[in-house]
Formats: sequence, structure tokens, C-alpha cells
Amino acid sequence: MEIFKPLDIQKDDHIANIENVEKVRCLIIGSGPAGYTAAIYASRANLKPVLYTGLQMGGQLTTTTEVDNFPGYPEGVTGPEMMDDLKKQAERFGTDVRFGIATAADFSGRPHRVTIDDNKVIEAEAVIIATGATAKYLGLESEIKYAGMGVSACATCDGFFYKGKDVAVVGGGDTAAEEATYLAGLCNKVYIIVRRDVLRASKTMQDKVMNTKNIEILWEHHTIDLFGDNGVEGATLVKKRGTPYEEIVRIKIDGFFLAIGHTPNSEIFKNYLETDEVGYIKTLPGTSKTNINGVFAAGDVQDPHYRQAVTAAGSGCIAAIDAERFLSDLK
Ligand code: FAD
Ligand code: NAP
Repeated sequence: MEIFKPLDIQKDDHIANIENVEKVRCLIIGSGPAGYTAAIYASRANLKPVLYTGLQMGGQLTTTTEVDNFPGYPEGVTGPEMMDDLKKQAERFGTDVRFGIATAADFSGRPHRVTIDDNKVIEAEAVIIATGATAKYLGLESEIKYAGMGVSACATCDGFFYKGKDVAVVGGGDTAAEEATYLAGLCNKVYIIVRRDVLRASKTMQDKVMNTKNIEILWEHHTIDLFGDNGVEGATLVKKRGTPYEEIVRIKIDGFFLAIGHTPNSEIFKNYLETDEVGYIKTLPGTSKTNINGVFAAGDVQDPHYRQAVTAAGSGCIAAIDAERFLSDLK
């Protein structure tokens, strides 16, 4: 584990004072594809996992309609249906699925201690963190109004629904460039709304964007609103905001894709676990192992690159196998 740097750890005294303590072998935090897949494998390996769902039972996919790219559903499936299937599958093998939020963690010794809802401590020999990542939004009221009706934070997931239409991607990083290039293969026209006069994206990604005919970059534009009757029909932008040349621009679009970064849900573990500068939990390449023995991470919380349901599920499987091997080595 020498690839990890030692962290300056500050112990959380609040956890030490909670009297309601339960001991478990394997604790899984999160109920997205990563958490439930880890649960299926861990329960089949007789680790008797306890899984806390967090506020969003079923994870990000419960916020979408059709999921067409998860293997095994030839006709597609709705996100909530698929997550319900995964939950049932985990429960069928004995996973104890509970509603609750992990509010603090103490990985300073073993067993590992995680506080649930600020009033109970789970002492676990192995912990699998599968808390996902949350896409950043601009904070516009209209983003909420048109959620699932033209506003999306995942082009790979929802791009298909905009075949032949005009869409916009907001952001200037690699994700925006990648999503715009992907959408350009499906859509009639793709605008990239960039707040500065440069892209943050790598040179290679920039070249791809510049060489794609149906992509138009709107430099120095800020989105201030979205409009439409039964879904997004356009966006209102401000060009060169705060300058003498400021002007209001309206574009007609059917889809508005956010690509301004994600926030990994790793905050409560940061005191103990090494993360990258954005907050993604670092794992030993090819494994789910974190810098703390017996603590494993799976899914979007440790994945800055792919962030797909199937990759999250795959890494949940890896985490359960890593946990099983860790626990059998303890015997
Ligand atoms: P998530 O699904 O994010 O689940 C995280 C879980 O952790 C949640 O249950 C949450 O409640 C829980 N949690 C968080 N914090 C805590 C805490 N403190 N304590 C306890 N629990 C906690 N991917 C595809 O492959 N195909 C698609 O069609 C597709 N469509 C998408 C559509 C939308 C609108 C979005 C937003 C994403 C889509 N994705 C799609 C991406 C996919 O949803 C994610 O890659 C996947 O859900 C990641 O799984 P995960 O298990 O890592 O985390
Ligand atoms: P990012 O690099 O942080 O870029 C975010 C972009 O969104 C920036 O251009 C930023 O603008 C813009 N932005 C942020 N907040 C905004 C707001 N409120 N309004 C308008 N624009 C806003 O995030 P990312 O693109 O998701 O990439 C994350 C990491 O993953 C990066 O390290 C990236 O290299 C990597 N990645 C790599 C690949 C690849 O190699 N194929 C693909 C995807 C992601 P400013 O530039 O003005 O700050």
C-alpha cells in the first residue's frame, strides 16, 4: 500500500460517545448499482452484509426513466425498476438493507466505526463505500423544473433520446468536450456553452471538438434560464457578461446537458481516506482497496472517468471479493 501518502488524521470524539453500537462483519454504504452488487456478492459469500441506503434509495438511476445500456435488459428498463430488481436480488441472498445515512466515520483502528444518522455506531470488520458522486448543476430554478424533461447530466445515458435534435452542453472541460463529441454523433447540432474564452479540456479533446462540423462553441456565454412549454425548447444566455459588449442570446435547443464536474460523496471519509483533488477516493489500481486496510471503495465515488451503472456494478463486485479475501485472511 506504499502508493498512498500518510494522512494527518483528526479523530472524531463524537463517535466515541455514542452508546448504541452494533457489530457487523461487512458494512456497505450506498444503494446504487455498486452498493447492491457488492451486497449480492458479499451475501453470497456469507459475509452477512448490512447495507445502508442513504437518502437516495437506489442511487442516481432512480432519477432517470429509460436505462438502455445495462446488459441483460434487451428491451431496456426504467431506472427505478432496475434498482428495485437489484435490491430484491441482494435481499434474496440475505443482505440486511436498511434506510439510514452514514454521518461520520472513524477508521483509526479496527473494527472500523461508522455512525448512522448521528445516533448509532456500526462497528464493521470490513467497510465498502459506494456513496456515488453527484453531478454539479448551475443552480437555476429551470434546471429543476425541466429535470428529466430536457435537462440531463449524462450524455452517454440520455443522448439517445435527442437523436436528430439540437442540444447544448455547458462546461469547458474534458467531460464537456467528450459529451459534446458523443452527442454530435447523434444530434443535428451541438452547442458548447463555455463561460471563458478558452477550454479547460486537454489539447486532444479540444482538437476533436474543433474538428467536428456540427459542434458550435459559444465562447464567454453564461446560461441564465431555460424555457419551453412541456420540456426544454431553448436557453437564454448572456454573452460577455459584465462587459460593455454584454448581450442576451437565446438559442433553440431540445436538450441541455450539464458537464461542469461532479462532486464525489466522500466528504465524511476524507479525514482517513486518500482522495484526489476533486474528492474521488483513491484505490489501488485494479482493486477496490483504499489506503486503510479493510475499507474498500466502489462505483462513482472512486471513478472520475467512466461513471456508468455497469462499471459501478462491476466495481461493487470487485469490492465484495476484496472484502471477502480480506476477512478470510483475518481468520
Ligand atoms: P449512485 O447510484 O450515485 O448511488 C450512491 C448511493 O449512495 C445512493 O443510494 C445514496 O443514497 C448513497 N449515499 C450517498 N451518501 C451516503 C451516505 N452518507 N450514507 C449512506 N448512503 C449514502 N449510467 C448508465 O450506465 N446508464 C444510464 O442510462 C444512466 N443514466 C443516468 C441518468 C441520470 C439522470 C444520472 C444522474 C446518471 C445516469 N447514469 C447512467 C450514471 C449512473 O447512474 C451512475 O454511474 C451509477 O448510478 C453510479 O452508481 P453508484 O452505485 O456508484 O452510485
Ligand atoms: P473540470 O475539468 O473541473 O471542468 C469543469 C468545466 O466546467 C470547466 O471548464 C469549468 O469552467 C466549467 N464550469 C464549472 N462550473 C461552471 C459554471 N457554474 N458555469 C459554467 N461553467 C462551469 O471537470 P470535468 O470536465 O468533469 O473533468 C473532471 C476530470 O475528469 C478532469 O481531470 C478531466 O481531465 C477528467 N476527464 C478526462 C476525460 C478523458 O481524458 N477522456 C474525460 C472526462 C473527464 P472553467 O474552465 O472556466 O473553470
